[in-house]
Amino acid sequence: NIPRVLSIQSHVVHGYVGGKCAVFTLQRLGFEVDPVYSVQFSNHTGYPTFKGSVFDGKHLQDLLDGLEVNELTNYSHLLTGYIGSVSLLNKIAEVCRKLKEWNSELTYVCDPVLGDEGRLYVPLEMVESYRNTIVPLASILVPNQFEAELITELKINSPADGFKACTKLQEMDPHTVVITSMTLASEPGTVTLLASTSISQDRGPSYQQVSLTIPRINAYFTGTGDLLAALLLGRLHKRPNDLSTAIEEAVASLQSILLDTAEACGEEVLMAPRSADVCNKRELRLIQGQEHLVDP
Ligand code: ADP
Ligand code: MG
Ligand code: MG
Repeated sequence: NIPRVLSIQSHVVHGYVGGKCAVFTLQRLGFEVDPVYSVQFSNHTGYPTFKGSVFDGKHLQDLLDGLEVNELTNYSHLLTGYIGSVSLLNKIAEVCRKLKEWNSELTYVCDPVLGDEGRLYVPLEMVESYRNTIVPLASILVPNQFEAELITELKINSPADGFKACTKLQEMDPHTVVITSMTLASEPGTVTLLASTSISQDRGPSYQQVSLTIPRINAYFTGTGDLLAALLLGRLHKRPNDLSTAIEEAVASLQSILLDTAEACGEEVLMAPRSADVCNKRELRLIQGQEHLVDP
């Protein structure tokens, strides 16, 4: 019985972010993937210009109605990433509840895409929607540091702060939270990932917590979080009771792709201002590096 993912993410015609990262990755890991586009753009929004459309809640409802009429309803996973409109975000809560009606065992992997490095790239009201409506429906939540801070209203300056934020998010219901990257003043030249999973115990809640220190490549890549979310879904599905190995495998695949990409770019392109040509050269080398996805 092959697991089947309903993936609601951005689509770009050219390049590798959002669904363009996640669909291929999950297919290579042996999942059936049914993609819904949250937006359809020519290229990612870090380029000097982009063109395309943003989809709303009605668009998603129509697609879901079509699936329901044809009884195409056997989803094991829901995966959501960048959502371009408030109406679509609100509809996702309904869709998630519907999928749980269809399959009470549904796993919802939620990347609460709000922004990065202090910059919000969605309307501010989405923060509240995630906090109040979406996070409580998620099984596995994969924010970056900025997103974890926005949702929990906690400032994260240390691993201890990060784990406190994880716990606060887990109290909202997700059984597993991964803060995909933190920048710590105490650890220059690195990216720190934190993960926490709930362990059921007789005497109240208990958590298994792991942290991973990753060498920082001195450049900004777009789509890394999207790729990691897909890899985490895949690896945590295969190893539901081995958080550290699942995380190591997911990060190892991602780092191999990033190192390939950085090497192919060279120092000059990694440091250059973001013209269209430079953005294009910095697209993740997912096809060239696809064996890293299956063999971390
Ligand atoms: P997002 O793209 O959503 O902000 P992150 O920045 O947390 O997501 O990136 C996800 C993962 O990508 C990190 O856990 C890390 O493994 C990897 N990564 C991202 N940027 C870098 C970098 N400059 N150097 C090394 N690894 C990186
Ligand atoms: Mg980031
Ligand atoms: Mg992200």
